[in-house]
Amino acid sequence: MTGHPAGRAATDVAERATAGFRQEYAAEPAGRWAAPGRANLIGEHTDYNDGFVLPFALSLRTVVAAAPQPGRTWTVWSELSGETVTFGAEDVTEPGRVTDWAAYVAGVVWALRDAGHDVGGARLAIASDVPLGSGLSSSAALEAAVLAALVDLGDLDLPVEKQPRLAQRAENVYVGAPTGIMDQSAVIRCREGHALFLDCRDESVEQIPFDPAAAGLTVLVVDSRAPHRHADGEYAARRRSCEQAAAQLGVPALRDIDVTGLDDALARLDDPETRRRVRHVVTEDQRVLDTVALLRAGRVREIGPLLTASHASMRDDFEITVPEIDTAVEAALAAGALGARMTGGGFGGCVLALVEADRADAVADAVTAAYAERGFTAPTHVTVQPAPGATRLR
Ligand code: ADP
Ligand code: MG
Repeated sequence: MTGHPAGRAATDVAERATAGFRQEYAAEPAGRWAAPGRANLIGEHTDYNDGFVLPFALSLRTVVAAAPQPGRTWTVWSELSGETVTFGAEDVTEPGRVTDWAAYVAGVVWALRDAGHDVGGARLAIASDVPLGSGLSSSAALEAAVLAALVDLGDLDLPVEKQPRLAQRAENVYVGAPTGIMDQSAVIRCREGHALFLDCRDESVEQIPFDPAAAGLTVLVVDSRAPHRHADGEYAARRRSCEQAAAQLGVPALRDIDVTGLDDALARLDDPETRRRVRHVVTEDQRVLDTVALLRAGRVREIGPLLTASHASMRDDFEITVPEIDTAVEAALAAGALGARMTGGGFGGCVLALVEADRADAVADAVTAAYAERGFTAPTHVTVQPAPGATRLR
């Protein structure tokens, strides 16, 4: 993102992790593992309704330099806090003993042990280019990079398709943050030049070609930097409302309502707000399917209107956007974006816009100008291309 402290973004993230390791531990790391941030191309608040999502991995990454350490002790340093935290086996027998940022690391150790893996002690040094708390999933990037390191160092038998669930448990149970399976699936399983079509009901995945650059396009990600207003409570309320609607309609989840049956379903709900919530989820699932169909056919330019329709649905029916976010979308579209939408859970976070590669700067400038006009804190932005998921660096 633009606006990173200059010294940090100036050096490659893998080099910073290695340098941090050398400085903290006066030794060489045994290896380096990277995991990306992610953006969801389309499919918002569909995950907990057993529906569809379509995330892709970003070129912004978190890198862990690591080496084994004798005994059952883990020491972790992050350039972001500049502090070193050490924890032992007694801290990973139950959730909650390690708190704050190191809980994401201890959570991975806990989840591995809880699944019966004999995790060896390790020293870890972490550097990241994924902005924290912007909705690009720095938390899953951290979990996935640490998990990849511990699995390789300990030669643990944990196939990649089982890793997202384990990383999610670290975050849900150890850290105590309720999230769906999308973030961890994306940062672990995404491939370069592809988006990951994930069915949140059975967790099956399909790699969908998504290569904007080949079509002369790029994805502009704008961090609204809007404060997350009541995001936790609002998330819980949306979830509750979807679950209650599914119960009223007599289906296991809203995913079981098809767009062709939407009007009938809506007619059976008397609360207008609930009707709007259901309409968002059902139409959003369909927009994911439509986007997948276009991408499979190589028609990447044509997904723009679906992105924009998704945004309108989040704004008007699901009511999870804020003025900063709507302003970014409107300004991007007015400046020629093919489509634009908020990405992530809402109430702040990022907007993504599909733009002609040579228009990216102009669109970003238009968003910045619109923010200045309304007196909002200046946004930051970056252009991204679909990148690989978690991997060991050579
Ligand atoms: P998001 O995942 O959208 O970035 P979260 O609130 O889920 O936001 O996760 C952000 C938290 O993850 C941070 O507050 C911090 O505790 C932890 N975290 C992520 N990346 C790092 C890192 N590189 N170093 C230390 N902590 C990190
Ligand atoms: Mg997160």
